[in-house]
Amino acid sequence: MSFSFLSQLHCPKCHETYNPDVIQQLCTCGSPLLVDYDLASLKTQLKPADLVGRPSNLWRYHELLPVKSPEHVVSLGEGMTPLLPMSRLGKDMGIEHLWMKDEGIIPTGSFKARGAAVGVSKAKELGVEELAMPTNGNAGAAWSLYAARAGIRASIVMPVGAPLITRNECAVSGANLNLVNGLISDAGKIVGHAVKAFDLFDASTLKEPYRIEGKKTMGLEIAEQLDWKLPDVILYPTGGGVGLIGIYKALRELAELGWIEDKLPRLVAVQAAGCAPIVKAWEEGKTDSEFWADSTTVAFGINVPKALGDFLVLEAIYKTDGCAIAIEDDELLEEQKKIASMEGAFVCPEGAATFSAARKLRASGWIKDGETVVALNTGSGIKYPETVKVEVPILDPQDTLQRG
Ligand SMILES: *Cc1c(COP(=O)(O)O)cnc(C)c1O
Ligand SMILES: [Zn+2]
Repeated sequence: MSFSFLSQLHCPKCHETYNPDVIQQLCTCGSPLLVDYDLASLKTQLKPADLVGRPSNLWRYHELLPVKSPEHVVSLGEGMTPLLPMSRLGKDMGIEHLWMKDEGIIPTGSFKARGAAVGVSKAKELGVEELAMPTNGNAGAAWSLYAARAGIRASIVMPVGAPLITRNECAVSGANLNLVNGLISDAGKIVGHAVKAFDLFDASTLKEPYRIEGKKTMGLEIAEQLDWKLPDVILYPTGGGVGLIGIYKALRELAELGWIEDKLPRLVAVQAAGCAPIVKAWEEGKTDSEFWADSTTVAFGINVPKALGDFLVLEAIYKTDGCAIAIEDDELLEEQKKIASMEGAFVCPEGAATFSAARKLRASGWIKDGETVVALNTGSGIKYPETVKVEVPILDPQDTLQRG
């Protein structure tokens, strides 16, 4: 049986198809490309039970991933992260069945590792020697480190305001790191010019088709971890929206394989109030978003003023009867503390926003009594030490313990 059932690439806008055996970036019409698999044939050859006993990482789904040959797999053991019950926090917000898909323990400290593992592996298979990308930090860190493992050179451009640790991750991996006085969109312009001038592989969000495939595995894992019975609601912190597009794609593929029922969970795009272009578009019933000027939020991973895949994010929300919701920074920081003190999980600000959103949607009745809800924590709180303000007593050796 083939390692991958990859068949072709297609454009979701103009429906043109492309050969996946050579390097492809965007469609000639400017849209991102999506990956197709021969699901009809896979359906007759693979059953959920065949996955039992496979390695506990995302490559257990290799038939539904684009890498054709196992020797091109570049892995740091990413995937199969825990799906944790959040009973105390759930009780606190009136959601009896609240779960956290916890990406905080994945290599590189954020779920960007999934996109990087699959994207870099496929780039290696296609013979890429040098890549370039703009980033808000976590993606650059992950792609730098996986590129180093693959022996691919990487040029990374990130805003000066991006979390410091992500700079260090890029630098220590030997990537060519440049900072920009501006936003990720400014970094994108610089990369765009460099790609043309130096003939580099453009690994920008959605400008290559395979990052979605890596992030898609979150959806595959949630389904498998819940024994192929889907939750009612999945909440996702949305920047470029790749994870949400990926989860939606994964669930549709599983439905086509007949492994899950056709009715999909309601997908919720959670954004920061300081950068909420998808929320605005959804509230106005539009199918794509407008550039969000002067965007700002402590949840750096979701500070994306205009996403190339916005129309795919909105389609996933509309098709699943989902919604989009914006959270203020002080609300998500408050939630971050609650999650740590009630559940012992130090989540990233982006992840905290999904729980804050669940709390609001339950209060408004959008999440109904008894529903099963999965919130994505996309990274480790340890990567954002500056979001927690610490005020503690400092003792001299002869002092006695203060107990608050
Ligand atoms: C990049 C990032 C996001 C947003 O991911 P998209 O798939 O681009 O929407 C969310 N959380 C964290 C921690 C991130 O690094
Ligand atoms: Zn097209």
